[in-house]
Amino acid sequence: MVYDVIIIGSGPAGLAAAIYAKRAELSVIVIEKAGLSGGQIINTYEVDNYPGTPGISGFELSTKFREHADKLETTFVNGEVTDFVLEGDLKVVTLDNGSQYKAKTVVIATGGAPRHLGVEGEEKLSGMGVSYCATCDGAFFKNKAVAVIGGGDVAVEDAIFLARICKQVYVIHRRDQFRASKSISSRLLALENVTVLWDSVVEKINGNENVETIDVKNLKTSENTSYDVAGVFIAVGYMPNSDIYKKVVAADDAGYIIAGENCETNIPGIFVAGDVRTKELRQIITAASDGANAITAVERYLNNLE
Ligand code: NAP
Repeated sequence: MVYDVIIIGSGPAGLAAAIYAKRAELSVIVIEKAGLSGGQIINTYEVDNYPGTPGISGFELSTKFREHADKLETTFVNGEVTDFVLEGDLKVVTLDNGSQYKAKTVVIATGGAPRHLGVEGEEKLSGMGVSYCATCDGAFFKNKAVAVIGGGDVAVEDAIFLARICKQVYVIHRRDQFRASKSISSRLLALENVTVLWDSVVEKINGNENVETIDVKNLKTSENTSYDVAGVFIAVGYMPNSDIYKKVVAADDAGYIIAGENCETNIPGIFVAGDVRTKELRQIITAASDGANAITAVERYLNNLE
C-alpha cells in the first residue's frame, strides 16, 4: 500500500500532524520508536506554558495528545527507522524489524535531545531542579538562586531570561570567554544579579528530593567551591535526531533539517515538523503548530499531484 503520508515521530509535532492528517481524511501511519507517545515531554515534571492546561505533567499532556489521535483512529507502528530513501516520487521508510512502508509524502517529526553534562546527580535530579529549558521551567525558580551551564547563545540568553525572574544567576563556563555573540554577552555581563564563573565546571549536583547545591571546580586554580542553588539549567548544546534523513534532505551545520514555517524541505513531498526543524523557539506549542502547518503543506502537495 502507498500511504498519503507517513509521520515519523510521536511527540507533540508528530501527534498534532496525525490529528490534522486524520481530520483531512488522509491515509496515514505514525511511526514511533519507543512504543510510547509524547517525545521529550514524557519526562517533563510540569508544563506550565501550554495554553489551557496550567501545571499539567508532560506525561499527562502527551497522554491527552495521544488519546486525541486514538479517538480519530490513527494507526501507530512501533519501530526504529533504519533507512529512508526515495524511489522516484515515493518515499520509502525501513524499520529495524525489516518492515517497509511507502508513501507519497513524509513528515519528519523526530525531535532531538539536549546534550547532557554527564555529572553525578544530573539524571537523579532531572525535573527536580535540573532543567534543559529555561523558557519552560524558569518561572518555577522565582526569587531563587540558579546556575546556568554553558557559554553559547542559548546559555547566555537563558541566563538573561532567568536574571529577570531569579534572585541570583551563576553562569558556569569552562573557558574564559563566551562562545555567544558579543552583543548578548555584554548585556549579560551588565546585569547585577549575574555572576559568571569562568574556567569552571560543575562536578556534582547535590540534593535529596530537589537540587540544593552544586560543586564547582575552577580549572585554572583547581579550587572547589559549593554554591547553594535551587535550579541548574544545562545549556551545552542540542542534538537533532536527523542522521538518517540528512542524506536525503538539506540540513544545517548543526544537523537541523532546513525548512521555514510551511515545513517544506528542499525535496518535494518531504516535510519536517518540531524540534528537528531549523527554528527560533523549540517548545510544545511551536512543535504542535508545525504539525498543523506540515499537514497543510502535505495536502497542498497531494492536491497538486492530482
Ligand atoms: P553552542 O553554541 O554549541 O554552545 C554550547 C556551549 O556549551 C559552549 O559554550 C560549550 O563550551 C559548552 N559546552 C559544551 N559541552 C560542554 C560540557 N560537556 N561541559 C561544559 N560546557 C560545555 O550551543 P547552543 O548555545 O545550544 O546554540 C546552538 C546554536 O544555536 C548555535 O549555533 C547558536 O549560535 C545558535 N543560537 C543562536 C541564537 C541567536 O542568534 N540569537 C540564539 C540561540 C542559539 P565551549 O564554548 O568551550 O565550546
